[in-house]
Amino acid sequence: MGNYYQIAGYHKNGTIMHDTRVTRMQQESGQQVIIIGGGASGMIAAIAARRSGAEVTLLERNPRIGKKLLATGNGRCNFTNLYADVRHYQGTNPKFVYSALSQFGVAETIAFFRQLGIDHKVEDCGKVFPMSDQASSVLDVLRYEMEDLGVAVRCDARVREIRRGTGVFRLQLDDGSTVSGDRVILAAGGKAMPATGSDGSGFDLARQLGHTVVDPFPALVQLKLEGDFFKQVEGLKFTGTAEILREQSQGGFRMVAGERGEILFTSYGVSGPPILQISRKAGELLQAGERPWLRLVVFDARTPDDMNRLLSERFQNMPRKTLEISLVGLISKRLIPVLLREAGVADPRCRVANLPGGEREKIAGILTDWKLPVRGTMSWQSAQVTAGGVSTAEVEPRTMESRLAPGLYLCGEVLDIDGACGGYNLQWAWSSGYIAGSSAASGDA
Ligand SMILES: Cc1cc2nc3c(=O)[nH]c(=O)nc-3n(C[C@H](O)[C@H](O)[C@H](O)COP(=O)(O)OP(=O)(O)OC[C@H]3O[C@@H](n4cnc5c(N)ncnc54)[C@H](O)[C@@H]3O)c2cc1C
Repeated sequence: MGNYYQIAGYHKNGTIMHDTRVTRMQQESGQQVIIIGGGASGMIAAIAARRSGAEVTLLERNPRIGKKLLATGNGRCNFTNLYADVRHYQGTNPKFVYSALSQFGVAETIAFFRQLGIDHKVEDCGKVFPMSDQASSVLDVLRYEMEDLGVAVRCDARVREIRRGTGVFRLQLDDGSTVSGDRVILAAGGKAMPATGSDGSGFDLARQLGHTVVDPFPALVQLKLEGDFFKQVEGLKFTGTAEILREQSQGGFRMVAGERGEILFTSYGVSGPPILQISRKAGELLQAGERPWLRLVVFDARTPDDMNRLLSERFQNMPRKTLEISLVGLISKRLIPVLLREAGVADPRCRVANLPGGEREKIAGILTDWKLPVRGTMSWQSAQVTAGGVSTAEVEPRTMESRLAPGLYLCGEVLDIDGACGGYNLQWAWSSGYIAGSSAASGDA
């Protein structure tokens, strides 16, 4: 039997207590809304549905709600971004986010959390964090609000099967029990970081009601590269530019994504904010059976010609030094032998005064245009978000209601929408969750 750890607002027999706590709510709507998933989108959906007068039960498979939320923003929860708009989202149809973001966008999100007690601060690139710097405080205020409103939260309650009868949904749980409701909100997340509970079972539940799932793949994730030198440079960082290149059929490359910032070498390839940001494009190409390339620009403030001139001056000033030694002070020491080998330099121990023609150009080239084949992305365990998901063509963007199974609403990462790094994914969870909750409580299925 699942564990009801919080039933404030309900009598033990399950009926709603009418007390002062419901004064912030509209009149009881009589709808029974069941929410599958106690993540960001499910919790806000529960609050919105309850405030709109529905009787709300939230089912969460974990012993506690909000496990992933605690891990967000390195434990600080980058809960929105001042610049959140359609340009920061991807999916088969990114414009799907437009309606939800215009109904419940950044201003509404900040106001919602302020009302719950979360003061905020804005950091670089519009990232918004709670003043407390604690993701746990965001979870706490959501939990207090649900408790105060009388949302029934049932943990250790994994939904295995969902059926839709006339005007009622029947949910079968892993423990054998069933739960019924007039409306269901599917807020079960995607597949990223499955240890937090989102293992893709939301996709199976959507399929059971006839929905199509666009093949999911990990996004905001590290890249695995081809090369045998990564152990040598593991842990080394540099600030530069990373780009995903697509090989053209007529020869050459086309840049499809690029980002500047701190890039970190790992034992398998690369990580760091710019890599996570561009990883979606690499995943997309890999998914389509293509072989993307990563271009690293170690010196991104210089053209190859500038770089060549700078090297020429250095070599003139220290003619007796070997090539390897001559680069100390310009490039991280551990990276020098790797770069010289990757550049195809014949003899790294050659004195720079005796350097054969063309060698300096090779070094200038690799420092401004180092191309490495992408072998893959890291797995779901390391991904921050899921690309792909339930087809948005099958969902009404204004209400988040399913077009195939009226009375079913979907929100958050289970949908084929993913945002950039920087607070955009949580904003999507809040926007779509709030709309799903208020529509489910009031809509006519
Ligand atoms: C490490 C990490 C850091 C991140 N940092 C940020 C950040 O700072 N800012 C940002 O905007 N985004 C961030 N994200 C992304 C963001 O956390 C997610 O996009 C967002 O939490 C998705 O919310 P959701 O409610 O759709 O899904 P989830 O948060 O995944 O919640 C789904 C819930 O459903 C439950 N569930 C699943 N299946 C079932 C079932 N069958 N029955 C019952 N319950 C079920 C799960 O246990 C889970 O609790 C981060 C992600 C990760 C992994």
